[in-house]
Amino acid sequence: MKNIYSETREDLETYFLSMGEKKFKAVQVLEWLYQKREPNLENWSNIKKELREKIAHDFAFTMPKIIKREQDELTEKYLIELADNEHIEAVLMRHDYGNSVCVSSQVGCNMGCAFCESGRLKKIRNLETYEMVCQILLIEKLIEERISSIVIMGIGEPLDNYENVIRFIKIINDAKAIAIGARHITLSTCGLIPQIKQLMTLPLQINLAISLHASNNDLRSQLMQVNKAYNLDILIDTIKEYIDKTNRRVTIEYVMLNNVNDGIKNAEELARLLRGLNVYVNLIPYNETNHLEFKKSNHSQIMKFYDTLKKNKINVTIRKEFGSKISAACGQLRSKEVN
Ligand code: SAH
Repeated sequence: MKNIYSETREDLETYFLSMGEKKFKAVQVLEWLYQKREPNLENWSNIKKELREKIAHDFAFTMPKIIKREQDELTEKYLIELADNEHIEAVLMRHDYGNSVCVSSQVGCNMGCAFCESGRLKKIRNLETYEMVCQILLIEKLIEERISSIVIMGIGEPLDNYENVIRFIKIINDAKAIAIGARHITLSTCGLIPQIKQLMTLPLQINLAISLHASNNDLRSQLMQVNKAYNLDILIDTIKEYIDKTNRRVTIEYVMLNNVNDGIKNAEELARLLRGLNVYVNLIPYNETNHLEFKKSNHSQIMKFYDTLKKNKINVTIRKEFGSKISAACGQLRSKEVN
């Protein structure tokens, strides 16, 4: 049975039209679910009883559960249990401009990036749309605050779960549902080319972030398996095409690994690769994990790298560090079964 929180406005419109009901019922349902946050159908006073019964019969209203909450000053991490007893994590970050949530898109991940903890558990399955939507609903309910931005940067490769992730974005972006502006939604990918090409044809003004992490193909292939399928040349061409088509600036993520990809030569090489592109580079201080041998670059090395990019006229920022004390930082999320 379909879950109601997986349904976009168009899905609900099709549903209502197919049984001879008015299309605006779809908006009424979204308003009950997302604006009034009233999951109890019996209280849906503007929808007649027979129709409510039909909806109750056709859709599940179940949600995953938050089973553990860990906090440090600006970050909270949640362990979420899914209906089939799989687990994922989501992270809340408190910024001065509002709350953002880092959402997971799969149970495990098959992309096999050498430095990432999440990928140590191979993909078990894609998340359903409602399992992503509910990460937001559950957190908002728990903290009794609104979330103003979303990054799809948790466990999983979102473009390896393309259909469900796009439906998730449509629902959170819908003005009658969660109403998070597209410019406050960022999708991060390791670089699945066919899906990036598909994404650029959609009328969604979301931010795209690309996990680049290396300045040449040899290095990138060592760090990221995906580079063997879609290498840097194809990736850079696709980013160009994306920018031309969408007129949107793309974020380049570059995790700083001590003595691996953080040399001045790498910075110069990266600058050449990105010259003239409407991108900005986000340098990510590496978060060490117990299981992987990579070390974080020291601060002065990060600053040298930063300065080299600046000198070469590349826009660059250093990602603010969140949540490393509670293993909630980039690349530290996992499902609890992994030791
Ligand atoms: N699969 C997507 C979404 C994950 S986003 C992607 O690859 O983009 C998580 C981001 O954190 C990615 O840029 C990832 O490369 C980076 N990352 C992974 N492990 C990390 C770690 N230990 N420290 C810092 N960043 C890490």
